[in-house]
Amino acid sequence: METPSSQGPRRIRIEDVAAHGAFRPLGALPGIRHDLQYAGEDNFAGRNLYGAHDCAWLHHEAAAALERCAQFLAAREPALHLLVLDALRPHRMQEAMWALLKDTPLRIYLADPARGSIHSYGMAVDITLARADGRWLDMGSGFDELTERSHPEFESRFRADGTLTAAQVANRALLREAMAAGGFQGIRTEWWHFDCGDRQRVRETYLRVD
Ligand SMILES: [Zn+2]
Repeated sequence: METPSSQGPRRIRIEDVAAHGAFRPLGALPGIRHDLQYAGEDNFAGRNLYGAHDCAWLHHEAAAALERCAQFLAAREPALHLLVLDALRPHRMQEAMWALLKDTPLRIYLADPARGSIHSYGMAVDITLARADGRWLDMGSGFDELTERSHPEFESRFRADGTLTAAQVANRALLREAMAAGGFQGIRTEWWHFDCGDRQRVRETYLRVD
């Protein structure tokens, strides 16, 4: 784990993001739609974690990368689009989520706020693929289904034992391919999560949203 600098991370508040030039609104990105799952009640917490805060933002570097992902997908599968499920997650919301999962094994799915989530820098997205009518592609487990079925690291085993179908694995592969085309990397435990850029560099040098 990196040692925090003596100055600590550079920070701004979510209330000041709209006025800050480093961030872009999701609604301004061509070919990208969003439906923020923590801004509603259909999530692991069963309540709106974002309240009245507008969290539909990304750091401009992640926004540009996501536009490249959308261009790739438009050329490969024009009937589909990228649907952002979570993007900029203020640090105070990360702390609230961490507290909700206290004393549960589900904490492996969250970044410890002491270390910081890449979402809090606007450099990570939770995302899936959807059809024009809004239906999500079947990925074999739901968003925020905090079980091993959601782990990309176990896909080949689950494909072999029938837990996941060939179509579900192919849908995940297409999502990963589109995200890689823009420069995002997935993680071992969540098919929907992708980071933009080097995580340590982001934590050390980017503006954190609190
Ligand atoms: Zn995520």
